[in-house]
Amino acid sequence: MTCFFMLHSCLLVLLLLLLSVPPAHSQEYSVNGKSVPLNVYEAAQLVNESVTFLKKQDFGRAQSRLKSALLLDPTMAVAHSNLGLLLARQGKTREAIEHLKKATQLPDSPNLAFVNLACCYQSSGNLAAAIDVYKRLIRRQASLDEPAARHSRDVLAVLEREMERQDKLGSSAEKAKLADNYLADAGGRNFVRWADSRFPLKVFIEPVEGELDGFDSNYNTILKKAFYDWAQKTQQKVKFQFVDSPERCDIHCFWTNDDEKLGDGTEAGETELRFFGHAIAHVEMALRAKELPGDFPYTENAVTTTCRHEIGHALGVLGHSASAADAMYFTIPLADESRAISSRDVATILALYRKPLDFNSLCLDFLLSSENWRKFGLFIPLLLLLLLLLIYARKGKKKTKLKKKKAVSS
Ligand SMILES: [Zn+2]
Repeated sequence: MTCFFMLHSCLLVLLLLLLSVPPAHSQEYSVNGKSVPLNVYEAAQLVNESVTFLKKQDFGRAQSRLKSALLLDPTMAVAHSNLGLLLARQGKTREAIEHLKKATQLPDSPNLAFVNLACCYQSSGNLAAAIDVYKRLIRRQASLDEPAARHSRDVLAVLEREMERQDKLGSSAEKAKLADNYLADAGGRNFVRWADSRFPLKVFIEPVEGELDGFDSNYNTILKKAFYDWAQKTQQKVKFQFVDSPERCDIHCFWTNDDEKLGDGTEAGETELRFFGHAIAHVEMALRAKELPGDFPYTENAVTTTCRHEIGHALGVLGHSASAADAMYFTIPLADESRAISSRDVATILALYRKPLDFNSLCLDFLLSSENWRKFGLFIPLLLLLLLLLIYARKGKKKTKLKKKKAVSS
């Protein structure tokens, strides 16, 4: 079982400050365990108030609290970071960059300010600046084994590959042009895909039984629509059929808030692929039902983006796109908007499905498919035995050829 990259919702986390209320007789104030002057304490209180308003999508009041906090303490990194995120959420990228840049220059800057700044740079087409921010972030992340640090390095590698590719293109007009597809970042030679005979893929969406915090019945409609979107965009090259039973389904989708099923608990969705050789055999897709504590509330846009993204993985996109305009970009947009399936996403899937599956993968896929077991029953073990003999015979042939070559050269 293999787990691949996931969509990261952690980017939207709003930062709170821990305040300790001073006793009536004392003039001691503390923020995050540190003794601070009154103006910093009051600024921290305003930041916390702004988080409450942000969660309610009351951007006006949140913004005024954050601006007041910065008047009291212009060096409060968290206030700059949250204000930058708030502005980005409203699509005000240029203003957002100013505040996030300021946040990353301050000594107590949160790591998320770096991630959000890089995201803003990318969405405004400044790849070099985004790379620079990620390099700074990696340098400050204490342990390189941390999942967050590992993820930062993966992201940096994708960005650098895209930058390198653009550098090779020469003129600035050419540089600005993205490749038609991002297959190299989405699996490359180690590609996996469904065998053509498996389409339409059978999709089972597990019904939610009982209470699932945050789940809205509309989510299943959004999920189904996301499958239809992929089918329609690829002109039915990939297509799906919804089934009522998990038995013999190809893609099993379920909503959950279980952190264990959602990576390290910071993911909006996680898609696991099982495959034989290059042929995908089965997919398990976990989708988060409720936003993480501190995140903006899930909107239909966020759910739509997550579903489209995870389906891309389910189709065989193992990595991510380096362009924020693609559904397979590695983060959800900071602005509250759904990310469409782009022409590059479509071109990547079409390129992937033009790659032929090798003989062994096709045979294994045929023999181990539960659907074929149902159809052909006992013939399957015989065919399996035949295939193993064939593979063995091929290996034997190769060895003999090698021996002959050695004999000639000696
Ligand atoms: Zn992903």
